[in-house]
Amino acid sequence: MGESKKLLSVDDALRFSRKEVLETYKNYVHPGRATLQALLNLDTNFVRAEGCKVWDEDGNEYLDFVGGYGSLNLGHNHPAVIEALHKVESAPVMLQTALAKFAAVLAHNLAQITPGDLQNCWFCSSGTEAVEGALKLARMYTGKKDFIYCLGGFHGKTMGSLSVTGKKKYQEPFEPLIPGCIPIPYGDAEALEKALKKHDAAAFIVEPILGEGGIILPPEGYLKEARRLCSSGNTLLIFDEIQTGFGRTGTLFACEHEGIVPDVMILAKSLGGGIVAIGGYITTAAIMKKAYGSSIDKATMLSSTFGGNTHSAAGAIAAVEVVVRENLARQAAEKGAYFLNKLQGLKEKYSIIKDVRGRGLLVGLELAEGGGLLDFLSAGSVKKLSSEFLSSMIGGELQQKYRVLTLFTLNNPNVIRLEPPLTVSYEQLDYAVDAFDKLFSRHKSFLKIALESGKSALSSFFR
Ligand code: PLP
Repeated sequence: MGESKKLLSVDDALRFSRKEVLETYKNYVHPGRATLQALLNLDTNFVRAEGCKVWDEDGNEYLDFVGGYGSLNLGHNHPAVIEALHKVESAPVMLQTALAKFAAVLAHNLAQITPGDLQNCWFCSSGTEAVEGALKLARMYTGKKDFIYCLGGFHGKTMGSLSVTGKKKYQEPFEPLIPGCIPIPYGDAEALEKALKKHDAAAFIVEPILGEGGIILPPEGYLKEARRLCSSGNTLLIFDEIQTGFGRTGTLFACEHEGIVPDVMILAKSLGGGIVAIGGYITTAAIMKKAYGSSIDKATMLSSTFGGNTHSAAGAIAAVEVVVRENLARQAAEKGAYFLNKLQGLKEKYSIIKDVRGRGLLVGLELAEGGGLLDFLSAGSVKKLSSEFLSSMIGGELQQKYRVLTLFTLNNPNVIRLEPPLTVSYEQLDYAVDAFDKLFSRHKSFLKIALESGKSALSSFFR
């Protein structure tokens, strides 16, 4: 290998400066993403993380209110998960000639903590892959083809999950997607009833609270009605609890708020304790048996090379144990109520905040469209960009000036998501509220920064 082909090492990566990260990412991963993040001031080089805190290369401390989009319910680098990984470090990580022992134990534990008679699991390595698995399970079980899904819902970006993700921007460039996927408005039980009458669907897939759609809670009773409608039509009810699971919304799983048990529950993100990559679904023994049988001819239809491997399953076993032992759900309920109340106070103060909503520590702060800041930014071509990236600009400001990390929700960029680890302290919640307060009170100079940032981002996009 010649001089120009020199490989970089882990140590090289550890030593990288902010500039080197940016250049290498730009050249070898995604130039547009690198440019955008740099323009929005979202290219800080973080080198250490623990609990709710992360540190940059200069030793500055930040509070993480993005929380890995719901993957960091336990916080960064929870010692119990790391300890579990140490315990298995000399075991085979995967061995296809044996049964995956740790996956079996993890499935046993999930069956104990999920509601109703959910019992049998299948494991993979990500959320989107788990969604694919759940959709296939529904087809196998019902013998039917169609899927009903919600506009604004987000289930991932592989072909199947994208087909049931209700955002045209993400779907259209990849069409044709899988046929027979019918979108309906979220939270509208009548629309679901009509769709079920018209299409003999294999499943209705839905998030108990829309995460990427902008932290939207359905009307009370909606999930119960969905349960009733699906049960009467032999349509599987699939709850995607990838973002809402493991205590995030104040109950262990968000469906418990209405006392509903789905036929299939999809899990990922915090299942891995913020450290290991694992996803999967849990369903009833009856559904698993009818779909994939107990006979050997279907035994190889479910597989995923890394799914439920020793590291991911052991990490997940430890993560689940922490969630239960530390009663993170109750912590989320109590801290979330406190946080929401404080944010409501800000809403009274600043017209730029259109809405504050959420449950537990799944919180969204929606920015006003057409009022104040957006009006100012909406002149001509800046309008589109500002509505897409305003919350990121605010995120960039919060990060640089107040050292609080936030991001927007993918399907609704006007909403700032606030999903800190459930172990966040009351002082840290106060600090974040105070940071928003200071930022919005500096409205005028911030407008200037946002406009400048919008303009330069725009010009680089059209270059
Ligand atoms: N489903 C929901 C509700 C999600 O929030 C996400 C990711 O944000 C996914 C599915 C996709 O998960 P992944 O990014 O692990 O593929």
